Formats: sequence, structure tokens, C-alpha cells
Amino acid sequence: MSDETAALRRQFPLLAQAGGTLHYLDNAATGQIHEAALDAMVQHERYARGNVLRAGHRLAQTATLAYQRARGQVAQFLNAAHPDEIVFTSGATAALNLVAQAYADLCKPGDEIVVSVAEHHSNLIPWQQLRDRAGVGLRFVPLGAGARLDLSGLRALVGRRCRLIALTHASNVTGAVTDVGPVVEQARAVGAHVLLDGAQRAPHGPVDVRALGVDFYVFSGHKCYGPGGVGVLWGRGEFLDAMPPSATGGGMVERVTLERADYAAPPRRFEAGTPPVAQAVGLGEALAWMSRQDWPRIERRLAGLTARLIEGLLAVPRLHLAGPLDARDRVPVVSFWLEGLHSHDVCQVLDGLGVALRGGHHCAQPLMQALGTDAVSRASLALYNGDDDVDALLAGVREAVRILA
Ligand code: PMP
Repeated sequence: MSDETAALRRQFPLLAQAGGTLHYLDNAATGQIHEAALDAMVQHERYARGNVLRAGHRLAQTATLAYQRARGQVAQFLNAAHPDEIVFTSGATAALNLVAQAYADLCKPGDEIVVSVAEHHSNLIPWQQLRDRAGVGLRFVPLGAGARLDLSGLRALVGRRCRLIALTHASNVTGAVTDVGPVVEQARAVGAHVLLDGAQRAPHGPVDVRALGVDFYVFSGHKCYGPGGVGVLWGRGEFLDAMPPSATGGGMVERVTLERADYAAPPRRFEAGTPPVAQAVGLGEALAWMSRQDWPRIERRLAGLTARLIEGLLAVPRLHLAGPLDARDRVPVVSFWLEGLHSHDVCQVLDGLGVALRGGHHCAQPLMQALGTDAVSRASLALYNGDDDVDALLAGVREAVRILA
């Protein structure tokens, strides 16, 4: 392990405590929490705990300032035009549902939504529900070479009735990063909006939503070295303004009578009830820490590790890789399956050797079908992973084959 990797691991309490006994390669499911996020949450709960955006007493004001500061940190991470474009949710799933429910009101029967066959269920089922409730058509971007999205038929797929294209920014199974440029171009040509599910891209460095040219972006805190129970919806100000709330209740209104409620402006309109304040504070610190890292350097290191991991896996007989073989435009997520062996058994053998990775369909069953398997084992790397982790994984896979085959 390099000095750089060792120094990083010391900043993640669970990894620091585990020493060399844990090879954590399930970062696409949940990353480890950074000490800055954990400390900020503990500090907040000990010294600044109060409800936000409601009371005028000092503690409530301190809590409100901390909460709004976190909103600003998220806005910086995404290069959003204004902190008010940031809505805190309980996670990427909740953020996607929020947008889908708003579109149920904004769409007319016969309108269309475009998603892809590679989506996580969280960016598929809400749109299926919208189809069933609002009579909206669903169309799918297919898989192409190297299990990347095939965008060549976009013009035929995205027609005049398309209201929204909702795609994964990076696949949680193949690691492929979506080429967003042509998607935005085609959306603009027909007046549709673009949503990116950034759950797997955000953990790999700051995102520039304005440079991407998209309209909505979602991600989860627990995959970005922050706490669980909090996530983000970013939306262009004018679009959030036009959206109805999906959840209603306290904190999201200006005036209420027995007959009606006047909703507050975004982001409060979408944050009914007491929000996850300490979690937002922790996430803000995690993202601020991420924003200070040298990402080009980290990317080069992780691309090297990913290339070595792929090369090592390809040397294992009867192993199939699910995704692009090259290190171009991909995040360090590598899925594979072994003929005749179930991924759960493979992962269990690896767990016994201290290597944590996940097996199964990864909440992407249509993608599994398109790949021709029902389950894969997935190794997902984060910035604290090193050569030792890749070596342990490759040795573990060879051992699994020896035991199970
Ligand atoms: N989208 C993608 C691509 C994901 O990988 C995940 C998490 N596995 C989600 C959405 C949902 O995230 P969460 O469970 O944190 O809401």
C-alpha cells in the first residue's frame, strides 16, 4: 500500500480501526464515512441540536445556519447556480421519486419519458408508476458495445412528446459513464429535460451540473463518504419553481387555512417535516473534504488499479466481465460472473478472506437480463483502495474457484 493510500485510510475511522484485515470493495453500495463528516455530526448533535427554519431562539438559529451552510457546500460540490437549487432528501431514491411524482402532474397522457435498460431500479420503477398513473409512455435506451449505453438511436427514441430523459450518470454494475453531451443536445432539440442519476458518479469527485447542461441531478450521502439517511436533488431554479411538492406537511408552506395551503418557494417546498439536519451537516463536510482533493491524481491512480483488476480477472478461466474493458469513461466499478458458480457463494468465500464485495442483481434486473446473467459479483473501488485490495480480491477469486468449482 502506498503512503498516499495509507494516509487516506487513516482519515476513515472504520478503515483505520480495521488495519490491514479488511479489504473493503463494496463502495458502490456504501462508502466509508470520513472523519470530518462524523466529527461534524457529533459536534452538531452535542452543541447545536435544534430544529431548523422554524424557531427564533439561539440554538435553533445555530442549527439553521449549519443546515443552510451544508446546502451551500452541496451547491459548491455541484457548481449549482444557487444554494436554493439544492433539496435535501433521504437519498437518491427519494429524490428520484420526488421528481417522478412532480412529473405525474406536469405530464399529459401520451407524453413520453426516456430511461435506459441499465438503470438502477430506483431510476426505473418511479417512471413505471408514472406510466401507469398518468398514461405516459416509457422508452428505453438499449445497451451497446462494452455494455455502454447505445446512444446512436437517440434521435428516433427522443421524440416531440418526450418530456424527460432520465439516465444513470455512471452504472452501478458496469461502471460505464454516460456520454451526456448527445443526450442534452437531443433533449434540447425537442424541449425535453434531462435528469442524471449521479449515485455512482458523485463519489468520484465534484460534478459540474452547469457544464453538463442537465436539469436535475440526484445522489446519496452514504456513497460519498458522508452519513446515511440524506441525499440530494439538484434542479434548475426555474424547474423546481414549476414543480408541485410530493410530500406535504410542516415547514413547506407560507400560509395555511382550513381550505388550502400556499406552498413555500423551493427548496423548502420539497422538504416537508423536520429534515435530517445532522446528516445534512455531515454530508456538507464530506463534500467539502472531497472538493479539496486532487481528483485528476486520484482518477489516474484508480484507473490504474481498475485496469490491473480487469486484467487479473480476465486471466481467470470461465469468468465473464460485465462492462467496458477499457479504463476510458468509467468509474472504478467492476462486475463479473463465473460460469457455474453463484455470485453469493463467490462473495461468501471472499468475505471469509476479509474481502467485502457484493453479489446479486444489484437492483438492476433488466440490465442483468441484457447482460445474459441473473447475478454478478461487484468490486467497487473508492479513493482509499490500493494494490493490497486488488491483490486480495484476485487471490480470493482464484481461491473461490478452487473451492467451489
Ligand atoms: N441509483 C444508483 C445508480 C445506485 O447505485 C443507487 C444505490 N445502489 C441508487 C440509485 C439508490 O441509492 P439509495 O439507495 O442511496 O437511495
